[in-house]
Amino acid sequence: MTAHLPTWQKELATAFSKPKELLQYLNLDCQTFSALARSDFAMRVPLSYAACMQKGTLDDPLLMQVLPVSNELINPDNFQDDPVGDLSALTEDCIIHKYQGRVLLITTGGCAINCRFCFRRNFPYADVQLNTQKESIALAYIQANSDIHEVILSGGDPLLLSDQRLADLIEKISGIVHIKRIRIHTRLPIVLSARITTELVSILQNSALPIIVVVHCNHANELSEQVIGACLALKQQNITLLNQSVLLKGINDNAHTLHALSERLFAAGILPYYLHLLDQAKGTAHFEVTQTDAVKIHQSLQHTLPGYLVPKLVKEQSGEAAKTLIFEGAS
Ligand SMILES: *Cc1c(COP(=O)(O)O)cnc(C)c1O
Ligand code: SF4
Repeated sequence: MTAHLPTWQKELATAFSKPKELLQYLNLDCQTFSALARSDFAMRVPLSYAACMQKGTLDDPLLMQVLPVSNELINPDNFQDDPVGDLSALTEDCIIHKYQGRVLLITTGGCAINCRFCFRRNFPYADVQLNTQKESIALAYIQANSDIHEVILSGGDPLLLSDQRLADLIEKISGIVHIKRIRIHTRLPIVLSARITTELVSILQNSALPIIVVVHCNHANELSEQVIGACLALKQQNITLLNQSVLLKGINDNAHTLHALSERLFAAGILPYYLHLLDQAKGTAHFEVTQTDAVKIHQSLQHTLPGYLVPKLVKEQSGEAAKTLIFEGAS
């Protein structure tokens, strides 16, 4: 059935979806560890991402991002389904218009990987995403609001759209005179780098508007040679590459790990943009790092890295006009 698909779509179709198979691949004993079976947010891990994990340890910083564990059942009251107030900023059933000058378009609900800490893990994607009927409504909204200058393609992961749909969308957005640039928020260059095909690169290269790609990488181990090659292919076409990370307990919550991440990102042609405090989505409480610890870690990065390799420490707060910058003394 998958015979005629491009390589990246085959890899997507054959991603690990059973914890047992992933654990076996990593030479881990499934008898001593029972993964959580979740039907609402299943496990999903492409092989190329699993290949970056160290074998034989449950403490691997990549495995910990994707393996369903019983800690997801811990549910403090302050952890909610829509932690950042996206639904109240929703318009036209597929646009989140929260910030001045830019809108976020939910292009698809799907992702190539299911990150356990995701702030949209409980998001009603089935109802809130672009489809062909909604596309013209969304474009009309952007057209009608001349104070919008940037369209962010998000999701889910917008690079799961076919080349043709993506090219078509970019072309239509470029036709709106007040739009100055298009931003793509994607984790695919990191978790399924085979998606960065020559065809995709040329679609982005041929865009009439400047393209900014914001990837999502949390640990230097995610940046394999193959991933770096894919990112550099984008960089060589004058695409601006930025990264956002989430500060995650036990995964990257120390200065040494984040220092190594910034250095490796630079080698891949990517500058650090944001380091997010965890959004309080139900099922993610065990990943939370306190703000006090976050500030300490961030200060230490400021002491050891050039300023352009230090990401901004931020928090997304419901109802705010921008991400909130976190610094010493902030509450
Ligand atoms: C984060 C975010 C943006 C982009 O914010 P920048 O600070 O420009 O990166 C836009 N819309 C929404 C809804 C967001 O959450
Ligand atoms: S790739 Fe991004 S949107 Fe998708 S599950 Fe991971 S964090 Fe969430």
